[in-house]
Amino acid sequence: MKKILAIAAILTLTFSLVACGGTEDAESTETKNESSQESNKEDKKAEDKDSSGSDLLIVGTEAGFAPYEYLKGDTVAGVDMDICQAIADAMGKELKIENMQFQGALLAVQQGKIDLVAAGVSITDERKEQMDFSENYIDATEVIVVNKENPAVSEPTGEKLKDLVVGVQTGNTADLWVSDTENAQPKEIKRYNQFLQASEDLKNNKIDCIVMDEMPAQELVAASDGTLEIVEGDPLFVEQYAIAVQKGNQELLDQINEVIKQLKEDGKIEEFLLNHTQQQ
Ligand code: GLN
Repeated sequence: MKKILAIAAILTLTFSLVACGGTEDAESTETKNESSQESNKEDKKAEDKDSSGSDLLIVGTEAGFAPYEYLKGDTVAGVDMDICQAIADAMGKELKIENMQFQGALLAVQQGKIDLVAAGVSITDERKEQMDFSENYIDATEVIVVNKENPAVSEPTGEKLKDLVVGVQTGNTADLWVSDTENAQPKEIKRYNQFLQASEDLKNNKIDCIVMDEMPAQELVAASDGTLEIVEGDPLFVEQYAIAVQKGNQELLDQINEVIKQLKEDGKIEEFLLNHTQQQ
């Protein structure tokens, strides 16, 4: 009898433990389900917003190109961002800025991962085959930046940058320009994702010069504690900035063009430039 009671007690105990365990399992499964439902909901939300007709306007940029785009605390500010904010406002959308590498932004827009690129992007024939451009909003010039102490170039034309180590941003038009032997015959081209790295190397005489857009060059020089300067004279070449969208996205392009036209008419682009330029 004692034995039977003991077995019964053991069985009861085992049963309640299993039951407990079972309950725990069920609970945790339920929690998991809930959280995965939550994340499904989140995914769904992200999908909704990312697809066209969403309430977000997603812009890709490279925030190392003041005054057009730069980091102010942890937000991206600049002329291009003001233009994008005006576009988002006109479309009744929320502006979402994705800070990425310049080349990556050009690729992301082609793949439809972002709605547009606003990164001081110059219109070129080659790019026109890969993406569509808005009306231009700025005429830009390209210049040479040197170390004041050790100016490797004195001619604004750069004398073809012969035998120099030239810094450029990867994949931008300066990179394309110096890579063409008709324009330049440098000893070496050093490609950087960020101009800040290039300017550090120029300060430390690791490179001889940087070829880049004039206004960002002025900002870089202004932030260099008097160590860098722009080679005086005519620019190396002239370009036009525009906003790029995925090829065929005419609807967005029309909306962008309308806003750019209005901003130009109202003198807003100059105002944005003044607001974001250090040297005034
Ligand atoms: N305007 C140049 C280009 O489009 C540089 C732009 C940039 O470096 N952000 O290539």
